[in-house]
Amino acid sequence: MTGGLDALPPLREVIAAHGLSARKALGQNFLLDLNLTGKIARQAGDLPACDVLEIGPGPGGLTRALLAEGARHVVAVERDPRCLPALAEIAAACPGRLTVLAGDALAIDPGAHLTPPVRIVANLPYNVGTELLVRWLTPAVWPPFWQSLTLMFQREVAERIVAAPGSKAYGRLSILAQWRTVPRITFDLPPRAFTPPPKVTSAVVHLARLEEPRFPADAATLSRVVALAFGQRRKMLRASLKPLGPDVEDLLLSVGIPPTERAEQVSLEAFCALARAVAAAGR
Ligand code: SAM
Repeated sequence: MTGGLDALPPLREVIAAHGLSARKALGQNFLLDLNLTGKIARQAGDLPACDVLEIGPGPGGLTRALLAEGARHVVAVERDPRCLPALAEIAAACPGRLTVLAGDALAIDPGAHLTPPVRIVANLPYNVGTELLVRWLTPAVWPPFWQSLTLMFQREVAERIVAAPGSKAYGRLSILAQWRTVPRITFDLPPRAFTPPPKVTSAVVHLARLEEPRFPADAATLSRVVALAFGQRRKMLRASLKPLGPDVEDLLLSVGIPPTERAEQVSLEAFCALARAVAAAGR
């Protein structure tokens, strides 16, 4: 499946030839080690059967790995126009298998270029990574257009995604991720794995979507309840959830949550029960 990829120059040469000095404002920390890019691509699962959406291909290290692992078609969204000639060389080496969309991933809808099943794989720019993840986890309809997300984050963000109740990292991101996906941290990458090295350790997180949410709840209501609860995470729920109505203590008690509890202690199942009670009360 490597096709003409083997004939491409090494990434360091590509970076030098196209003057791709890393820009901090674009979250540019490049992965040049083929063993690592291959390892990330393999975490994503069955690529030959899938289209892959990659955000921020940069000089194309991970893009090459996705193609080498046999991805049927890769759609890559890149904001930095300096990277486009390097990506065009990869596209030329794999005719018909790489589509590059130039622009901001927060503004572009790549849907028209993708055929299901779709997997999303990215070494995300840190400045937009969490926002993209929240968007992918909160589409208008479920199941979403993607089967799985395989994403690089700062280790601290990865821990928030997989955190259990009672831990400091547990919060809105944990609930959104664990309600409708099975998230797991697959491996860590030290700063020295990147060029230039970031300040912190990174981790790859794989999130496999569930066809049905783990517990029933209206998505918008659950999102609102969790945002309120964790917006003031050190407060008791009877205080942080006051905007839900004057009878918030009754709502909490009706689903077995002590009103003096803090958001950090409340399980995903209990938050879903609370969201159902809030919706039933017309809030
Ligand atoms: N995938 C490459 C790798 O692994 O070496 C580069 C990863 S680098 C951490 C993040 C990439 O995302 C950069 O190429 C950067 O230009 C791009 N980027 C930053 N903000 C973006 C945005 N809003 N939309 C699309 N790409 C963006």
